Amino acid sequence: MAKRKAECTPEEWALIREKDRKRKAKPSNKEWARQYEKRPETIARRKAYERKRDTSPERRAYLKALRDRPDQREKRLAFIKAYNADPRVKEYRKAYNLKKMYGIELQDLTRLVIFQNGCCATCSRPFSDDTKGTKPHVDHDHDTGAVRGLLCGPCNTVEGFIRKLGLTPAEYAARLQAYLDNPPAQEEQLW
Ligand SMILES: [Zn+2]
Repeated sequence: MAKRKAECTPEEWALIREKDRKRKAKPSNKEWARQYEKRPETIARRKAYERKRDTSPERRAYLKALRDRPDQREKRLAFIKAYNADPRVKEYRKAYNLKKMYGIELQDLTRLVIFQNGCCATCSRPFSDDTKGTKPHVDHDHDTGAVRGLLCGPCNTVEGFIRKLGLTPAEYAARLQAYLDNPPAQEEQLW
């Protein structure tokens, strides 16, 4: 039986800790621990323990008090802010959304941007990340779900707007042209 901390000199204890650390770091032991953690009985035992721990009134009161402490609140908000600002998190979210909404990977997006010469497929304005309205938007066919290409913000909005009106782009363009040719306010000579 290994010695307890209280029975050791600090040097002895450091040696024991070091040995323990090395043992746990050994690949074979790590693999064993991984397998052990995956066993259904281990998982069930851990869950039961956590359930019991988290539902006890003392624990709940403790957690609530901790949540309400002003310094903890600030700490939490600071953490969330830093977390959200982390470029890796942003990248991860972007990848997650792309996959979830359009079934494509980040690499596919990059390939599309390159294929479109970094420009909106309709108005040809160059894409950029910081200027408003020129961030690439994934445009997809709402009936089939297939990705059609990348549009800038306004073009993407216009496409969706025309579709919602139930017009074809040509029909919409004709109406717009007719309006510009005969502006109602001038025709009536209101002023
Ligand atoms: Zn555009």
